[in-house]
Amino acid sequence: MNSGVVLKSERELEAMREAGRVNALALSAAAAIVRPGITTSKIDEAAVAVLREHMAQAAFLGVPGPFPYPATTTVCVNDELVHAIPGKRRLKEGDIVSIDCGSIVDGFVGDSAITIPVGQVSSKAEHLMEVTLDALVIGIEQMIEGNRTGDISAAIQSHVEANGFNVVREYTGHGVGRHMHEDPQVPNYGSPGKGIRLRPGMTIALEPMVLAGSPETRTLPDGWAVASADGHLTAHFEHTVAVTSDGPRVLTALDTPPEGIRYNRYFVNRPASEKVRP
Ligand code: MG
Ligand code: MG
Repeated sequence: MNSGVVLKSERELEAMREAGRVNALALSAAAAIVRPGITTSKIDEAAVAVLREHMAQAAFLGVPGPFPYPATTTVCVNDELVHAIPGKRRLKEGDIVSIDCGSIVDGFVGDSAITIPVGQVSSKAEHLMEVTLDALVIGIEQMIEGNRTGDISAAIQSHVEANGFNVVREYTGHGVGRHMHEDPQVPNYGSPGKGIRLRPGMTIALEPMVLAGSPETRTLPDGWAVASADGHLTAHFEHTVAVTSDGPRVLTALDTPPEGIRYNRYFVNRPASEKVRP
């Protein structure tokens, strides 16, 4: 099962950190322009500009599917969970929007995602985003040498369900490196003590995808976008994280968190000692 896990050397982790940093800059630039009235393609353009500036390639562009993925980001609004193609849709006050981006620098992939509010949103939407971001942080805290992938999965699931929400079943976190998807798969649900053992040099994109209603999803008519089956809100946060002998190292954080973006604590690579209190 773990034959496909690729351990990275310290030098490779440094290269992945650069891909992750560029991806975080792209996400923060995209998030910074979110406001009522802009189209989702404008959000994509903001990320494209950052990748171009850093001579990074877009990891999502051309990914096989119903047709080759045509954009640099996925931009999901409200009930849309993953893989929505940015386009003419205009954001409205009260929407929540998830932006997912992948950058390739020197052959390594950084993969991360953030969900943010558009203007004032409902308290339920705020709670959903807070719980999803906390679930990511709680999952990262489990990325300790000797733990197993099931410890991560179980920590994410229990935090989400304790707050009355559900985790997706069909889409999972994943190993990442020279390929956007490597082993192991890390679902957002599972049992402590199960799964493969974490070792220094493992790099995993952890990505809680959380549904305010039932966990079922449906694919939208374009064949790419996936939304909650019952139309309830969803949220998604993701970081690329390395297991090291010093604890988890978030590769898609920023040294200086951007100002003026809600949930900018997402961008902070907090020390392992600073635990989230669920
Ligand atoms: Mg992603
Ligand atoms: Mg991913």
